[in-house]
Amino acid sequence: MLKLKGIAASPGITIAPAYKIGKEEFTIPKEKIKEEDIPLQIQLFEEALIKTRREIIDLQKRIAKDMGQEEAEIFDAHLLVVEDRMLIEEVINRLKKEKLNVAYIFSEVLKKYIEVFSKIEDEYLKERIADINDVGRRILHNLLGKERKGLEELKEKVVVVAHDLSPSETAAMYKKNVAGFVTDIGGKTSHTAIMAKSLGIPAVVGAEEATYRLNNGQLLVVDGSLGEVIVDPDEETLNFYRQEEQRLKSIAEKFLSTRDLPAQTLDKKRIEISANIELPDEVSVVKLYGGQGIGLYRTEYFYMNRDDLPREDEHYAAYRYVAQEMRPYPVIIRTLDLGGDKFLSPVRMPHQMQPFLGWRAIRFCLAQPEIFKTQLRAILRASVHGKLKLMYPMISGIEELIQANKILEEVKQELKTKGIPFDPKLEVGAMIEIPSAALTCDLLAKEVDFFSIGTNDLIQYSLAVDRTNEKVAYLYEPAHPAVLRMIKNIIEIAHAAGIWVGMCGEMAGEPALMLILLGLGIDELSVPPLVIPEIKYIIRSITLKQAQEIAREALRFSTGREIEEFTQRKLREILR
Ligand code: PEP
Ligand code: MG
Repeated sequence: MLKLKGIAASPGITIAPAYKIGKEEFTIPKEKIKEEDIPLQIQLFEEALIKTRREIIDLQKRIAKDMGQEEAEIFDAHLLVVEDRMLIEEVINRLKKEKLNVAYIFSEVLKKYIEVFSKIEDEYLKERIADINDVGRRILHNLLGKERKGLEELKEKVVVVAHDLSPSETAAMYKKNVAGFVTDIGGKTSHTAIMAKSLGIPAVVGAEEATYRLNNGQLLVVDGSLGEVIVDPDEETLNFYRQEEQRLKSIAEKFLSTRDLPAQTLDKKRIEISANIELPDEVSVVKLYGGQGIGLYRTEYFYMNRDDLPREDEHYAAYRYVAQEMRPYPVIIRTLDLGGDKFLSPVRMPHQMQPFLGWRAIRFCLAQPEIFKTQLRAILRASVHGKLKLMYPMISGIEELIQANKILEEVKQELKTKGIPFDPKLEVGAMIEIPSAALTCDLLAKEVDFFSIGTNDLIQYSLAVDRTNEKVAYLYEPAHPAVLRMIKNIIEIAHAAGIWVGMCGEMAGEPALMLILLGLGIDELSVPPLVIPEIKYIIRSITLKQAQEIAREALRFSTGREIEEFTQRKLREILR
């Protein structure tokens, strides 16, 4: 029996065998070939190149149609790789000399190219590494002639073990036989972890060397609440976790008793409890757990796991569905927030040294107004089918906000001219997730109807801690006095300006810290669907006055750890 310690990313307990997934380059076979097989291997290589070329041209055509010629031309660099005579000749020469299978030879040549390019001190050439890598994978894929084994094929429940999973890979686990996952790297508020929570899959990230230490088929217990993985548990341990699973289930049932009741304190202060979703299908789960709205619909997942851009009608159908399903409750659609750790999509993001500080979210949308407008049009059109609101991510100052609102106004005018109906009172909000926005929220308040505090980013930017990096996860502290002071200010300023303020970062769903938020006067909490019953239950067990006293006391401590311990103690007292 072995125990791996990682970061608790998504709560719950799961018991299932390990299923390792790796990157393609690790599974390329190395095989000797005979002299007479050389022509066949060359032919395979040529066919793979032709097939790859065709794929790139198709992709290019689709992008030209969806985004414009300029964006499509980015793929010219990919075509150059497929047609690179030097690369092709090197593969063929080595094939003849070394007599090894062509997939292996090609992967070796590719590695060498990437190594050479990495050493060159030239930003442009460094950018080309991503192109070579991309095309190289495509060619290898076609050479090996097989699809990467999809999660669809899983016949029994497994725990996926991987070095890393992208948010889009996690999204692809929806409704598949994945009972949990464990990764070598990652942080608590990485989008991979957030997605796991949304899907209700227990997960441990940052479990160092998990892929190295675990074997396929080994029985695992994933404790996503404590961040532990037990490997090959003995009978006694297994019984313990089975009982623990039952215990958690009965607690969850107790919390669920609040499903149809309002989130109201004992002295009748009402808070809106809504949910964060990534996929439209999740609304059924939100309703099941008693959510009274959607406080954050992360629409960027719409752009992932596909080759083309979503068309306006597809956006419209999804937003209309969510609006209708949630009626009469509100749904806040967040405009596209690609970039950061969310990138695998038809929108080709350039390689960035600091993706979280780079071309992301509203910055991307303002630079690509056509993509932005398509989404805004769909939101407006769908707004007549329910209570939709929209908000912009990553606002750093007033100018961006004014610019975004100007584009929104243009789209409204366009619809008016065409006689297409929309809700003229549609509320517009700004996410407060950058310290500069937090510090100028008095100015921002003049341009919007509400704020939603995005603590996942606000914490990473305020404390200078990468939210996806397990090495600095210990510094990622929602209870840090700096974070709490900032939140207090935002709420006070929003209220003074006469607008409401919610929170949609993961902190809103942390039961102990939520007590402080309640005391500080937050109006809305948007949390992962599964957490709704617990949060509601706690709110219904406390008075606003008690929460205000907790917030006051908490702000007197000088460290996050003290605040965390203090609020945990208070929470235990309340639930007792
Ligand atoms: C946040 O930053 O807190 C947030 C809710 O947005 P995301 O996690 O999608 O960056
Ligand atoms: Mg954010």
